[in-house]
Amino acid sequence: MTMAGEYYCGIDVGSASTKTVIVGADDNEVVGHSVVRSGMDFEEAARKSFKDALAEAGVERCSVVGIVSTGYGRRNVPFAQHRKTEITCHARGCHFYFPRRITVVDIGGQDNKIIHITETGGRDSFKMNRKCAAGTGAFLEEIAGRLGLPVSELEELARQSTREITLGSFCTVFTQTEILAKIRQGVKVPDIIKGAFNSVITRILEMDPLDGEVVLTGGVVAHNPIIAEMFSKRLGKEILVPPMPQCTGALGAALSAKEMDS
Ligand code: ADP
Repeated sequence: MTMAGEYYCGIDVGSASTKTVIVGADDNEVVGHSVVRSGMDFEEAARKSFKDALAEAGVERCSVVGIVSTGYGRRNVPFAQHRKTEITCHARGCHFYFPRRITVVDIGGQDNKIIHITETGGRDSFKMNRKCAAGTGAFLEEIAGRLGLPVSELEELARQSTREITLGSFCTVFTQTEILAKIRQGVKVPDIIKGAFNSVITRILEMDPLDGEVVLTGGVVAHNPIIAEMFSKRLGKEILVPPMPQCTGALGAALSAKEMDS
């Protein structure tokens, strides 16, 4: 039985960032969340993210009655009672906001996932690309590095693009060479960045059919909302983005913590 004043927590330790979400036990309301870089010490990142989320929520540690960890580093959270796969948690978190049949596209730091979810929130099927950085957040980080820019500036620059260009190669290493050639040809930086965003989208479109309603999540869309607009244009339909798109896995983990307790 859940009580007012009690909370559940989900911690998603991704390869790039660690996310925590805290929900109220009686109403599932999100009361706190946090995103920190995973860095080299996943356990430390999980502890920091948990602490930050508790502070944001104004909740005492002892009021959190269940913790589920998920993500690439889910085994590095010794204070979690249970572990769940990121596919299960993403499905759960997205179904919370869109309780119907949906296709989830998650663009993360080092992998992309496409998860087909049933009306009841179950997993129909999924595809995950974890073998190479092409089309992931790491690809965009490499491009930003090549252009000497922080990733946080990509969104604003992409919005200044006036010309469509196509980057032919997907491979991060080859793309670096291609970008150098474009710069030499006088192609503007905003056009190169938008071209890189389009390259991410093309890579995802090749992974699996995006049927029905499509929900976009992950750190890339959280920081570059223009990708959702570009996706929508390419697919010719509306794309849904949940609140806190980087934290849907952590939210799903928090909701799972509650279910496992009841
Ligand atoms: P994971 O779950 O695999 O750790 P995330 O879903 O958190 O990954 O996404 C990480 C990606 O989000 C990074 O590779 C980067 O492209 C993007 N990102 C993260 N923080 C920022 C930021 N401050 N500005 C722009 N992009 C960011």
